Amino acid sequence: MAVSAVAESVLTKYEPVIGLEVHVQLGTKTKIFCSCPVEFGAAPNTNVCPVCLGLPGALPVLSRQAVELAIDAAIALHCKVNPFSRFARKNYFYPDLPKGYQISQYDQPLAEHGYLDVLTPAGKKRIGVTRVHMEDDAGKSIHDGFKDSDRYTYVDLNRSGTPLIEIVSEPDMRSPDEAYVYLTEIKQVLQYIGVSDCDMEKGQLRCDANVSVRLRGEQKFGTKAEVKNLNSFRFLKMALQHEIERQVELIESGGKVAQETRLYNVETGRTVGMRSKEQAHDYRYFPEPDLVPLRVSEHWLHEVKNRLPELPADRRDRFMSEYGIREYDAQVLTLTRETGDYFEAAAKAAGDGKTTANWVTGDLMGLLKAAGKEISNSPVKAEHLGELVALINKGELSGKLAKDILPKMFETGEAPSVIVEREGLKQISDTGALEKIVDEVIAANPKQVEQYKAGKTAVMGFLVGQVMKASRGQANPAAVNEVLKKRLG
Ligand code: ADP
Ligand code: ZN
Ligand code: MG
Repeated sequence: MAVSAVAESVLTKYEPVIGLEVHVQLGTKTKIFCSCPVEFGAAPNTNVCPVCLGLPGALPVLSRQAVELAIDAAIALHCKVNPFSRFARKNYFYPDLPKGYQISQYDQPLAEHGYLDVLTPAGKKRIGVTRVHMEDDAGKSIHDGFKDSDRYTYVDLNRSGTPLIEIVSEPDMRSPDEAYVYLTEIKQVLQYIGVSDCDMEKGQLRCDANVSVRLRGEQKFGTKAEVKNLNSFRFLKMALQHEIERQVELIESGGKVAQETRLYNVETGRTVGMRSKEQAHDYRYFPEPDLVPLRVSEHWLHEVKNRLPELPADRRDRFMSEYGIREYDAQVLTLTRETGDYFEAAAKAAGDGKTTANWVTGDLMGLLKAAGKEISNSPVKAEHLGELVALINKGELSGKLAKDILPKMFETGEAPSVIVEREGLKQISDTGALEKIVDEVIAANPKQVEQYKAGKTAVMGFLVGQVMKASRGQANPAAVNEVLKKRLG
């Protein structure tokens, strides 16, 4: 970990400004311009064809599924989808790019002018999304792992032609934490609507960060550096932290931040200069002549929109208003689509969303976590959890008994009524049955009964406790109170 020479007080004089460029691999079955399968971990250079190998004369054909997933993402990010967009060639030479250019959208992207609301510790914050555009991925250079890796680099072109979207944010983030929650939210929402699995370890979610600092109160942005190679959420935060400190330190010691691309080094925890503005590539962009422009009709857009599930942020708001649950719980319950579906099914069976929310976020999630299980294969069915809540609400089970029953439901997968029946755990509210127990307790505790009769009403708590104990926790406490009072005069 890098230890900075700048003091905290100096750091707080400055305000960081951060904008992210996020690449997301679309979850299509096939590549963006050919029908080769997209498959992680296949034997090298097996999922290839003349198109994605960049052989002369091969022609690309745009995948409809890729466009639809990109539109899904654009809608989720509240972007305006352009009726007309087009692809361009971004020319550069690299061994894992056999065509000699990447096909990307440049001057006319698929979608623009969006935003994403994120929950920061300081409250809700809106981060602007400048644009969402489509492009193809390059292959992979493999620098180690072979016995002659000291002399050779190997190239695997299975990834070549994998569909990506790039999501460019406005420079709206003001701390590494905000960048972290923004990226987290992107991941959540895109997973939720099924655009991508967003598995960072598989490279399905990649992030470059643009960072600058300025004196607080200053309107003008400082010169930015672009930090690459941030392939985990933790690295994003650490790299930003380090880069902010580096820039502040530089400015404080009379230097100037250079506009450049920097690489985050995981080992040292530092960023190092990779190329300056002067060394920046000239990509010689020009419209891709082998592809027709992409037209998205009103009709098509409408169709895609209609297929989209309710977005997590909308669902979160609806949960709060429809079921009266707290923002935090609504957030937890909409983290994944499966959690939201489970909760709604359970709430319906219970006829009580608020209590159900507590059981899902509390006891059930605790049991799932301890067992290393996902809610989508919870041994407790949503309907059964709802039934448990309903039994409490009907006064047939005390909350305490219910807490004992849930783990048994988790173990056996049985309905609560089945367990209650078998173990005879029904709450006793029946006065006749209670009177019998109360009389036994009164007979066994003459001293306390005397005290009560002498005016020491606090002993009541003790007597109720004795009845509860005698009933193995099954007595309804309110009913016990009543019967005891009646019996003691
Ligand atoms: P470039 O011309 O280098 O591509 P852009 O203006 O297109 O720069 O912005 C690229 C990314 O950098 C965007 O995510 C944007 O929000 C961010 N960005 C732009 N200016 C700054 C700045 N001064 N500080 C931090 N981030 C910035
Ligand atoms: Zn192919
Ligand atoms: Mg730019």
